[in-house]
Amino acid sequence: MLDVEGGSSVKRVVESLESYIAVCPSCLKKTLVITEFIYEIPFFGRVLITTGKCPGCNYKFSDILSLEEHEPTRFTVKVSEVEDLNALVIRSKTASIRIPELGIEISPGPAAQPYITTIEGVLYKTLDVAESYCEDKDSPEYKRAVDNIRRAIRGELEFTFILEDPCGNSGIVHRRPERVVVERIES
Ligand SMILES: [Zn+2]
Repeated sequence: MLDVEGGSSVKRVVESLESYIAVCPSCLKKTLVITEFIYEIPFFGRVLITTGKCPGCNYKFSDILSLEEHEPTRFTVKVSEVEDLNALVIRSKTASIRIPELGIEISPGPAAQPYITTIEGVLYKTLDVAESYCEDKDSPEYKRAVDNIRRAIRGELEFTFILEDPCGNSGIVHRRPERVVVERIES
């Protein structure tokens, strides 16, 4: 399901739109429950959040769509203060995330997990993925990578957080907007 974290930064559900039943793309039965609702995110605007769940086969999906006009954009934050870790990240399926200093690359695509969380939340998710999928946990590379992510979470390691979305459905909301470099990219 869709992760919506970030505490008070995510204001509230402004409208509950609707819930309906559709054909499940996995088991092809008409049992897929789709729910759509709108979140109002301060300084970003309204987003439409769609989640689908099939009780028959456990198929799930979720997506985030910005309801405001946002251009294809790259957001860059030089994370050097604890406050930067608390910046809100709105990530749709079409967004990629890169943290070069930590060797992190999160690709867009149909299987990508959309979420609303903080930069710190993205680091925790990455840590989870590393711990779940790495086969050689004794290797020096793994230990170094995980140690670096933990240090970054504690604010002991400066890094660059880059979010790019050619469809303009993603964004970073920082308490101090001047900390975020915003560039227009080709769609
Ligand atoms: Zn199904």
